[in-house]
Amino acid sequence: MILSGKAVAAEIEEELKKRVDALGFTPGLDIVMVGDDPASRTYVEKKLNKAGDIGIRGRLHHLSETTTEEELLSLVSKLNSDNSVHGFIVQMPLPKQINSLKIISAIDARKDADGLHPLNLGNLAQGSPATASATPKGIMRLIDYYKIPVAGAEAVVVGRSNMVGKPISYLLTNRNATVTLCHSKTKNLAEHTRRADILIVAVGSPYLIKSDMVKGGANIIDVGTTKLGAKMVGDVDFDTVSRKANVSPVPGGVGPLTVIMLMENLVELAERAKAEPQAPAPARRRKKQP
Ligand code: NAP
Repeated sequence: MILSGKAVAAEIEEELKKRVDALGFTPGLDIVMVGDDPASRTYVEKKLNKAGDIGIRGRLHHLSETTTEEELLSLVSKLNSDNSVHGFIVQMPLPKQINSLKIISAIDARKDADGLHPLNLGNLAQGSPATASATPKGIMRLIDYYKIPVAGAEAVVVGRSNMVGKPISYLLTNRNATVTLCHSKTKNLAEHTRRADILIVAVGSPYLIKSDMVKGGANIIDVGTTKLGAKMVGDVDFDTVSRKANVSPVPGGVGPLTVIMLMENLVELAERAKAEPQAPAPARRRKKQP
């Protein structure tokens, strides 16, 4: 079976349109992009287009490649205090002169549409309510859509990034899977992947997972995306692996879900802001004049 993400994403999109209508105001998603990375440009365009389709006001802040950390921190601070912005993301990767973790930590966790702030990642690890990052959330939706059993399953995650590998390992653990997290220093990767009932691959290495590395009937989610010439390919050797296991295709698997889950995060943040309007920053006390 092919674990396509398109139908799931289309269903979620229709639900989100209704939730946006019910808000009674237009939610705002801002996207900060630094530099001109062509892949980032494509992702940002997709996100802004999808926001428009759903009734979300999308706004791009496109900064030059030479932007300093201070300049970016100043924009983050402005967006944190702008009430028309219900959530925002800083598109990764950032240029070398900017410390990504410092920028992510400066985002108000209540506006962290990408779910990358340490508070959100920490809450997710604890199994507490949190804004989860879009790709892992999308993977769980795909798993649930195809009714793949999670509790008690052997789940193997390849890749340990803060954006995909770690959060998906938390989400699977919270749903009672037995999770193994592999990375570039893992010895005998195939020994781990062969045990997997659920295999999540988020590396960015084309065709890393071959047919002899997976169990027959396994459910495999291919997160990797690499451009080879004009073609976008995943981390799984789809043609051979899909003969013995269920695999999500690239493109058309996790990609559409990532975009729609970002929109779901934004709608959730807007709903929360409506339910609990943010307290204004405490007024500064004036010094008493002598
Ligand atoms: P990342 O930050 O570069 O992390 C890659 C991970 O893969 C690292 O943990 C690395 O290990 C591990 N790794 C590298 N070579 C390996 C090997 N030979 N065996 C096992 N593990 C290996 O990447 P990311 O941001 O998580 O993204 C991963 C891929 O997913 C990329 O292709 C990206 O474009 C794609 N992606 C797609 C979507 C989508 O919507 N479709 C969304 C997000 C990401 P170390 O930690 O030891 O270095």
